[in-house]
Amino acid sequence: MSFAAEAASGVPTLPEVHSGIPQYLLEKATHAKNWVFEGRTKEQRARQRLPVVPLGIERDEFLKALSELKETLGNEHVEINDKPLQDGWYMEHPNTHDMMTILDDEEFVASAVVYPSTTEEVQEIVRWANKYLIPIFPISMGRNLGYGGAAPRVRGSVTIDLGKRMNKILNINAEDYTCLVEPGVSFYALYNALEERGLRDHMWIDTPDLGGGSIIGNTVDRGVGYTPYGDHWACHSGLEVVLPTGEVIRTGMGALPGNNTWQSFPYGFGPYSDGIFSQSNFGIVTKMGMTLMPNPGGYESFMYTFQKEEDLAPLIDIIRPLRISNILENVAQLRHVTQAIAASGLPRTKFYSGTGRIPSDVIHAAAAETPVGDYTWAYYGMSYGPAHIRSHKLALIDAEFHKIPGCRKIDPSTLPADEYFWSRDRIAAGIPDIHELRWVNWAPNGAHIAFSPVSPIRGADATQLFELGKAVQDKYGIDFFPAFCVGLREMHLIVEIVFNRDDPEEKQRALRCLREMVDLAAAKGYGEYRTHLVLMDQVAGTYKWNDGALGKFNERLKDALDPNGILAPGRCGIWGKRYRGFGWELGSERTDGGSEGHGVGPRVE
Ligand code: ADP
Repeated sequence: MSFAAEAASGVPTLPEVHSGIPQYLLEKATHAKNWVFEGRTKEQRARQRLPVVPLGIERDEFLKALSELKETLGNEHVEINDKPLQDGWYMEHPNTHDMMTILDDEEFVASAVVYPSTTEEVQEIVRWANKYLIPIFPISMGRNLGYGGAAPRVRGSVTIDLGKRMNKILNINAEDYTCLVEPGVSFYALYNALEERGLRDHMWIDTPDLGGGSIIGNTVDRGVGYTPYGDHWACHSGLEVVLPTGEVIRTGMGALPGNNTWQSFPYGFGPYSDGIFSQSNFGIVTKMGMTLMPNPGGYESFMYTFQKEEDLAPLIDIIRPLRISNILENVAQLRHVTQAIAASGLPRTKFYSGTGRIPSDVIHAAAAETPVGDYTWAYYGMSYGPAHIRSHKLALIDAEFHKIPGCRKIDPSTLPADEYFWSRDRIAAGIPDIHELRWVNWAPNGAHIAFSPVSPIRGADATQLFELGKAVQDKYGIDFFPAFCVGLREMHLIVEIVFNRDDPEEKQRALRCLREMVDLAAAKGYGEYRTHLVLMDQVAGTYKWNDGALGKFNERLKDALDPNGILAPGRCGIWGKRYRGFGWELGSERTDGGSEGHGVGPRVE
């Protein structure tokens, strides 16, 4: 499709496709699409591509294997990736590659995409992969943007797009507040289903910033949302998993035939095995249970601003006891004003055309023009429950926050409908949105990738990480977007780097900057909670206590469960035996820009 045609076509809706937008967001999504294409200069590759055949198999043998798989799944459910790579945008994203790639477009690409419709077909695909030693990479929706999207780590892997045909909500239990979903159920779709069934006033979902991802994909990658049920992994209960050798298991109570507690008691009996299926490559999740939140009977968003960068440390120390005692009830965000300016959706060039980090006075001048006025940090939170309960908590928060000189409580009635605050308000109430895409327009052909270290909720740690990130990003001349997401006993600093994915120099700079921040943070005891494909080996390498004992344990599990190493090789820095020793790991020392090793080992007998 040409650029213009792509931009002009409508946004797919939920009744049309499983990955579509709900009606209430259609207008907003159409605007978002226009913005994305206004800043787009990157040409799509016009040439027809050969499929990238994975290392370890000859082209003819590979094509023969795919023909065999077509017989099993049906011709139309096996697609060879031989068309020009098309980046699309959030709502029309590719399942063949990372639309926000930081390496060359041709690195993290699939050779083919397959579409199973049942757990049995997933088992067939896994057995087929073992027969031919072809790497496979499961995705649910493939919208894991900033972490690799739909892309496989090993070039030429066959992507298993689970979501396209396995997208049923199998059960919503309104009495127990639970549900059971397949991989292709997005946050948008679950929210819509509650609306359609008249259950929305009864129960809430928890959604991340953008609601187009799948509940399963986000949860297994340990994503977060912003209601009190924001820790998705902690809120799931029960998995069905296809193992890398083709067997299928149900975890927790799901292992007991005839049980009726799979979605309400996560542990069952014996070792709690679910953990090894998150941020790993040990299995393919085909069903998952999730808990839903009772409607709290009222809610109220609040926003406070703080004037100075140095307010960070005392503020974090104020937040800690409030958060641990649940006065601050949700994973709340403390955001730097620079990202708020970018969240206007306007490109950086509207504010500044120089190189290096955008000067503070430019940002503050822009902030002064907004309805919120000038500030450095904004805290977005929500209080839940009936008014008399909220008022008690809100009074405590107000008194504590006002201990910081210059603190301002923003009156929501002064804010226009498209102000970022209202997007935070919806998300903290479990209403999925699409607003958060806007700051990606900061750069032309905007893409993003994150530095996301975990630390205690302590002022000294916040300051240390803030200073570290700022110094390294200044060195590389990159605008700095820090946001602290405060969990119950820890916080993640999320620093998004926005880059032009059509500019090789800018991409390289962003990657070098990230690598340096990861290593410097690790040297001070801070580790990433989640990361992009390109950084997985490096991040896994920082978890190296006792001569890398945890990494070795993961390798032992991998070799036992996946002897041929066919399932998502390299994901989260875990490589099966056939890949080890062939130079697949990506770290700072790798400077050729490639992502492949120099071969693979033979079948493991
Ligand atoms: P989303 O559905 O939120 O868009 P993705 O489908 O991109 O998320 O999944 C995020 C990551 O989690 C993927 O890169 C993949 O490695 C892993 N993943 C997703 N779904 C599954 C699944 N059903 N089983 C195992 N791993 C999965």
